[in-house]
Amino acid sequence: MPPETASTSRPSSITGGCLCGAIRYTISFPASSPWPPPMNATCQCTLCRKFTGALIAQPVSVPTADIAPPLSSNESYKTYQSSPSGKRGFCGTCGGSLTFCYDKTPEETEIFLGSVDADVLGGEWGKALCETRRHLWLENAVKGVTDGLKGRKYLTDERGGEGFE
Ligand SMILES: [Zn+2]
Ligand SMILES: [Zn+2]
Repeated sequence: MPPETASTSRPSSITGGCLCGAIRYTISFPASSPWPPPMNATCQCTLCRKFTGALIAQPVSVPTADIAPPLSSNESYKTYQSSPSGKRGFCGTCGGSLTFCYDKTPEETEIFLGSVDADVLGGEWGKALCETRRHLWLENAVKGVTDGLKGRKYLTDERGGEGFE
């Protein structure tokens, strides 16, 4: 195999975990998968806010099978049924917010990007991984504070209409 160089157009994997380190994960990006992962949006829904403690949360959706080891294999990994449709995953030791998953699509996991390691976020792949122009649940925006993001905004989620700039 040729050595990996700075010109590689995509990472083979990235790493992340919770605050205390009890939960560590690697997300692999096989050549057949899209890079960057396309399902990426900020979310200002009340559930994401209460879960993360952040005014603007930002998850990205990846195939559950590409997360290793499986998060549920870690005894510190806990889930909370935050609505009838889905669960949120977190570290039971430090409380770090990690995931959201719809019950009807367990093959996809939304990873909160703030749980990705700092050297990844600040490194070569950070911009591609995190950049988004889609912003959900502006209905809950804090006026003059969280409503000025660049890109297409939706009052609720993308099923709620075409959005606005
Ligand atoms: Zn932890
Ligand atoms: Zn949300």
